[in-house]
Amino acid sequence: MRIPRIFFDHTLNVGQDYSLLSDRAHYVSNVLRLSAGRPLIVFNGRGGEYEATLLAAGKKEAALRIDRFVDVDRESPLRSRLAIGLARGDRMDWIVQKATELGVTAISPLYTERTEVKLSGERLAKKLGHWRQIIIGACEQSQRNRLPTLHEPIEFSDFVSQCQASRKLILHPGTEGFSLDTAGQDGANSAAVLVGPEGGFSDDEVERAKVHEFLPWPLGPRILRAETAPIAALALLQHSWGDW
Ligand code: SAH
Repeated sequence: MRIPRIFFDHTLNVGQDYSLLSDRAHYVSNVLRLSAGRPLIVFNGRGGEYEATLLAAGKKEAALRIDRFVDVDRESPLRSRLAIGLARGDRMDWIVQKATELGVTAISPLYTERTEVKLSGERLAKKLGHWRQIIIGACEQSQRNRLPTLHEPIEFSDFVSQCQASRKLILHPGTEGFSLDTAGQDGANSAAVLVGPEGGFSDDEVERAKVHEFLPWPLGPRILRAETAPIAALALLQHSWGDW
């Protein structure tokens, strides 16, 4: 049976016991339904993972002992940043989960001309907390030991003017400019990918991105949904320059 993995946001030392409170204790005891004595893998997002033993498992409190540090990370050599027009409903949840599985390094939700969602104050804080939980779940499942960075939503024009990456790409149907065939040959190790919202990017946005050295990247003759395009792009990038 696969050993369950849990994220624990805490400095960890081998040989030491730790209490898990509230949601982590609930996750171990009620969701994973583990009982005392079971082995666990614990990671804290600061690199590597820890073999651990569950000492006690209750509804509100659990405890574990850290047995051994294993110096392993499963990060891609390609640093990838996904900047994506904020999508409605639970589409962003899906994108955040899949992008994390695919090894994305950072995610920036974008406000674009055709973005219909605006988030601020308490709603924004709640959403960011919700997406962080999705990232944690995807790292537990996919065996990543480092959490991708989740940035606050940013205006399109600010993102394109500030973005630093060795390859800057804007996904836009029916364009020309970027080809994967030759792109990785100069040792590029970081890529930023812009993906539009459901309504796509305006021509003006595509032009503005080009001014800041973003290359338009077409993904074939079919129009992909806003949640499909970033997944296809990340898979292609991992294949060409990453660890696939
Ligand atoms: N109605 C919009 C399509 C939006 S699809 C239009 O016609 O422009 C949402 C986003 O997915 C797009 O803004 C683009 O970033 C990406 N996308 C979808 N299909 C694509 C394709 N074939 N090539 C490149 N990008 C694509």
